Parts: sequence; C-alpha cells; structure tokens
Amino acid sequence: MAFPTETVYGLGANASDARAAARIFEAKARPSFDPLITHLADVADLEPLVGAVPPAVAALAARFWPGPLTLLVDRPAVIPPIVTSGLATMAVRVPDNAYARRLIAAAGVPVAAPSANRFGQLSPTRAEHVVRGLGGAVDVVLDGGPTRCGIESTIVDARGERPVVLRLGALPVEELEKVTGPVTIRPGSSGQPVAPGALAAHYAPRTPLRLPAAGVAATSGSVPGMLRGYLAFRDRPAGDWTAVEVLSVSGDLTEAAARLFEALHRLDAAGVDEIVAEPVPETGVGRAVNDRLRRAAATWHSAN
Ligand code: AMP
Ligand code: MG
Repeated sequence: MAFPTETVYGLGANASDARAAARIFEAKARPSFDPLITHLADVADLEPLVGAVPPAVAALAARFWPGPLTLLVDRPAVIPPIVTSGLATMAVRVPDNAYARRLIAAAGVPVAAPSANRFGQLSPTRAEHVVRGLGGAVDVVLDGGPTRCGIESTIVDARGERPVVLRLGALPVEELEKVTGPVTIRPGSSGQPVAPGALAAHYAPRTPLRLPAAGVAATSGSVPGMLRGYLAFRDRPAGDWTAVEVLSVSGDLTEAAARLFEALHRLDAAGVDEIVAEPVPETGVGRAVNDRLRRAAATWHSAN
C-alpha cells in the first residue's frame, strides 16, 4: 500500500518478504537493480534488526531520526537480497510522519518503500498523485495530505572515515556537516555528469523540461507555435507564458522544495509543449531542488 512520509509518498511492502518486495518492483515498473529503502517505526528498532552499527552511523541516526536521512548499514539476513538489489548494504531510515510510523509499527515488520510513482517519473507529494500515477497497481493509498518536505531523503554512507552523500535530499548537507564535519558528495549525485551520458535521467515530468542557460534569464514565453510553461523560484517571469508556477514568493528554499513536485505535476497537466525551469539558489535544500531539476532536464536531453 502507498502511505505518506514527510518526504514523498512511499509504496510499502513487508521488507522481510521477497514476494511482497517483488510486487513493489512490478507496480512501479522499477528495474531490479535499483534498491529500496527500508523504513522502521522507531530509532530503537535499528539495532535489533541489523545488530551493531558503526558509531558514526548510530550517531547520525540518534541525531536526525525520525527524519529525512537515509543511512547505509550491512544488510541483515532477514532482509532478502531483492530489497537491496543484491547489494551487501541496506538503506534504512525512520520517517518523521505520524501516519507512516503508526502504520509501520502496526505492521510489525520493516517496510521497504520507494517513492510511489512509476520508475523515472515525478515523485508523489499528494495521495491523488499516487492514484493518478499508479492507479490499479496499488491496493490501498493512505491519504495523509500533502507531504511536509516534498523532496526525497538525503542518502549518506557514514560507514567509512569520511561520510559520502549518495543522494542530495531534504536534509541539507550543511546540517549533516555540523555533526560529521566535511562530507564528500559523490560525483553524479549533484546531477553534474561525470561523463557525457552518465547523468541519471530521473524525476521527470511527461512534458520536456529544460533549464535556461546559466545566467541567462528566459524572458519571454512566446515561441511561435509552442505553448510553454515556466517554473519560477520567487519572481513571476516577464513575457507571455501559458502556465507559470512560483515555488516561493518569499524566497524560502524549504517552501520551494515542498512545492517542487506539486508544481511540476501541475505544469505537466497544463498541456504545454515545454517546461522551462529556473534553478534555485544552490544552498541548503536548494541543492536537492536543483539536483532534481537537472535530472528531469537530462531525461529530455538524452531522449533528443
Ligand atoms: P526512492 O525510494 O524511490 O527514492 O529510491 C531509493 C534510492 O535509494 C535508490 O534509487 C537508490 O539510489 C538508493 N539506495 C537504496 N539502497 C541503497 C544502497 N544499499 N546503496 C546505495 N544506494 C541505495
Ligand atoms: Mg523514487
């Protein structure tokens, strides 16, 4: 079933049951090489599941759980390899959402839950996004209203000497570094290709999306014969656009992140031929917002 978390809606199944986990991959049309995140109801559930965890991992869990931080641990034997796509590591977190935690506690098992969207498409931040995107492939959608963060968790491998950020997300790197000291951001995780074509295409609307060239404001919406939509950070763009979404009139990055996918879902539904998306300031959770925009744009570059 799908359920809300503070990041996005998840599609959950019993993580200790390989057949249940297989149904997640099936419902999402997700390739089997893309591992799932396992969700726990409480910080205290980690050790009984995985045994001793490295001190740095335990410290981050203690500081940031429940919350939008996913940590890597060794995969315990009770979690079948399908959940981790055969990796020796398991990604795990405790979500900061009362519905999610009560559901997982009631289930009495760890819950594997990727975002409740078809593979590669926009993440759902409302129950109706799940219904629209997955429809009959899901038995139940628990409606908890719009999600608070609106963007996926930050994924960190803190098992080694220096923590490595594997995916930028709702927990800003700056917050992490206050606890851990400097972290490494894995090449590619910021959406910058390490080699041409290496950029992961993901989080994409159905409508082609592009970013304005760096430093060049997209001033006009009118291109003959083309309907265009604009995703703005705080200021409405000049010109004649068919649809405009402003992420935060006060310029607040947390609000912008919370509204990102919802705004993209709406622009996608507006019937435009192209979406122009303006990057937000590259700081705090803004880095994760820009990461998602670059990946969405990459989908359309690689399709061309
Ligand atoms: P989603 O829940 O849809 O946001 O996707 C979860 C993401 O977590 C996957 O796309 C992987 O990139 C990442 N992930 C899950 N497990 C692992 C792992 N063991 N090692 C590295 N990344 C992981
Ligand atoms: Mg996802």
